[in-house]
Amino acid sequence: ATPTSLMVGMGRGAQLGILVRNGAALELSEKIGVIVLDKTGTLTEGKPEVTDVVVFDDMTEDQFVQLVASAEQSSEHPLAEAVVNYAKKKNLQLVQPSVFTAFGGRGIGAIVNGQKLNVGNREFMVENEITIDSSAMKKIEALSDRGKTVLFVAVGNSLQGYLAVADKLKPESVKAVEHLKKQGMRLVMLTGDQQKTAEAIAAEAGISEVIAEVLPEDKAKNIIRFQEKGLKVAMVGDGINDAPALAQADVGIAMGTGIDIAVESGDIVLMKGNLDGIYGALALSKAVMRNIR
Ligand code: ADP
Ligand code: MG
Repeated sequence: ATPTSLMVGMGRGAQLGILVRNGAALELSEKIGVIVLDKTGTLTEGKPEVTDVVVFDDMTEDQFVQLVASAEQSSEHPLAEAVVNYAKKKNLQLVQPSVFTAFGGRGIGAIVNGQKLNVGNREFMVENEITIDSSAMKKIEALSDRGKTVLFVAVGNSLQGYLAVADKLKPESVKAVEHLKKQGMRLVMLTGDQQKTAEAIAAEAGISEVIAEVLPEDKAKNIIRFQEKGLKVAMVGDGINDAPALAQADVGIAMGTGIDIAVESGDIVLMKGNLDGIYGALALSKAVMRNIR
């Protein structure tokens, strides 16, 4: 039976931009001990911008950016969007790749103007047997240490250069994290991004526990790992890659600003993607449960 207090709670939530899609989640929320948060688009704005471009050998920076943006224009990833926007700002003419393949959580492969391109993270380069010399790696690590995501670019079988992309924390992230920690919540960042980049952003947000370099299909497994220890878990996310984890969590909290599949996987939707809504939902749950008992 759904008590009227649950209905009242859902109504109050709606006024606060907290859409409760599943009333049972509201009953469970007060038992939550761990909150797992996705990084990109959840803790951060999800609007990354290109900050650095490094090109090797006999290609100009414009030629390089034009090539990478042409390859990335078919990708829906926020990182791809950052590269395309950067190329547009430079008024570069993009060309349609003849072949395009997305490798979830790793990168993309494409053929542009007859040239084979692979753009993605370090593991993706390793998989494609692209070597990265140690002096380049040092510079790349320095960028990662500052919370930037590095996109490695291989043309043919060798590294042609890289781009660094930065994504700012949402303005409310630090306060929201602080507030949740004060309530005794264990906070964990779960991301597909590189360890160093993730750690830098997590530190900025005030989160000390980081699970990085997680493939999209493995995000849900990490939720199960907590549940196996008898913990009740809330997952907060916005992307396609978060949908299975949102569904697996005891309470899935989706960003209303996220992709449809993620929103549909959430028990609770924060309409404006505002993280204050996490403790808003927890408080709502407590109020509702008090009324029920
Ligand atoms: P997150 O969990 O932060 O939302 P994803 O799982 O979507 O991250 O992606 C993980 C990593 O895979 C990215 O940080 C990036 O290094 C790489 N990647 C994914 N898609 C692309 C792309 N279109 N272009 C370049 N790199 C990509
Ligand atoms: Mg995301």
